[in-house]
Formats: sequence, structure tokens, C-alpha cells
Amino acid sequence: MPDPVIRIRNLHKTYGTFTALNGIDLDIAEGEVVCVIGPSGSGKSTLIRCINLLEDFTPGSEVSVDGIPVARGRALDRVRAEVGMVFQSFNLFPHMTVLRNVMLAPMRVRRLSAREAEARARTLLARVGIEAQADKYPGQLSGGQQQRVAIARALAMEPKVLLFDEPTSALDPEMVGEVLDVMKALAGTGVTMVVVTHEMGFARQVADRVIFMDGGQIVETGPPDRIFDAPQEPRTRNFLGAVLNH
Ligand code: ADP
Ligand code: MG
Repeated sequence: MPDPVIRIRNLHKTYGTFTALNGIDLDIAEGEVVCVIGPSGSGKSTLIRCINLLEDFTPGSEVSVDGIPVARGRALDRVRAEVGMVFQSFNLFPHMTVLRNVMLAPMRVRRLSAREAEARARTLLARVGIEAQADKYPGQLSGGQQQRVAIARALAMEPKVLLFDEPTSALDPEMVGEVLDVMKALAGTGVTMVVVTHEMGFARQVADRVIFMDGGQIVETGPPDRIFDAPQEPRTRNFLGAVLNH
């Protein structure tokens, strides 16, 4: 087994007296597509936010990305340069055009020239199917288009790892498919993807592995066919029964 690109050991996270993550151990291989499912409040967002230190975690927990320990300090910039994040709420810069949104980080962090950054941005915007919107502002785009810009923006840093936190949950139903299609096309390109999602069809079709969380713990993990067709744990069965039958 090559070294995992994400390595997590004994990860704990508390908010005051509340334990949001209660001992997570997880290795994710380079190029793997992992979908994280589970009820609201189970710690899914907290888990992926710890991977690039958007949340501090309890001392004694170990998280590393590409062999770099995730911690405050100099190495954090290196970690963040390797990890792209796509949020439910897009988080684009509203005062910048789509093109500028995608150019910004490569110029600031990777020191690309404006010309190089623009060429890269236009290629990526074409890849997510919105090259025609390059000069518009985010507010002029549909939610599905904005989320595709957010994906292009994350890709512009050529990250090793892409984290998605419910990327389609804020979208009108007719726009979910266009974003999932972009994500499907990304899976298999070599980028490691960790996707928190309620889209069980997507997880079944695209994930190499599904992780079911509850109560701040990983309850069960396995290939999608096993998790969806033959879950072993009662909590997994209850959850899937509730989400797949409504
Ligand atoms: P999920 O993404 O699975 O819905 P979260 O990771 O967002 O769950 O949250 C896990 C638990 O931690 C929830 O009970 C939530 O209320 C709590 N929590 C999350 N963020 C905070 C915060 N900033 N302060 C206090 N509690 C929080
Ligand atoms: Mg969440």
C-alpha cells in the first residue's frame, strides 16, 4: 500500500463540552473517491473541515495530508495549497468576475502570472461548462453555475485533495444534476475526493468507498454496494431506510 494522501488518527473535536468527533481513524489513498454520509449533526462537516484546519482539533489527534502534519504554523500554507474545498454555499467573491474568482488563488499563492492564471482559468471554466460566463459576476449566475465556478476555482490550485461539503444541498433540484455531472467527470482524473453528500445515487455510482458516520464516529465503511445493499450496522440500516424510502 502506498502512503495514504490523507491520514487521520484518533481525531477528536469538541465544542465546549460537546464532542463532535470522537476518535476518527481514516486513511484515504491518492485518487480515491470517498463519500461521507450520515444524519445531520453526525460530524461530517467537522471531519472534512479538520482536514485543512478550518476547525482546530483536540491535541493528540493526528491529521496529515500528503505527509504534511495539519497544524498551525508554516506547514499550514502547504497543506491548504494541496486541499481544495467546495462549500454548500459556493463562497465566491461577489465583487469579482467569474474569471477573476478562478484566477485569484493561483496568482497569489502559486505565483502564476496573470496571463498564465487566465489561461488556466479559461480552460477550467470550459471544463465545467461555463466558459461563456467568464466576465459575469457570481450574482448573475444560477446556483448550479456558481457551484461549477467554485469547483473550477478549487481546481485552479491543482490540489491533490478536493473536499466537498454537501455541494448540491443549496441548489434548486433542476441544477443538482449539472453539478453532480461535473463531479463525476472529476472522479477518476486522479484527484482525491472526499464528498459529504445526501445524494445516495451519486455515492453509489461514483464512490470507491462510502463512510457512514453517526455521533462523531465512523460507524461503518465499505464499497458502495455493500453499504447500500448489505449494511451491517443497525444505525446504518436505520439511516438508509429513512433516506432511501421517502
Ligand atoms: P454534520 O455536518 O454531520 O451535520 P457537523 O459536523 O456540522 O455535522 O456538526 C456536528 C455537531 O457539532 C453538531 O451537533 C453540531 O451542532 C455541532 N457543532 C458544529 N459546529 C459547531 C460550533 N461552531 N459550535 C458548537 N457546536 C457545533
Ligand atoms: Mg454538515
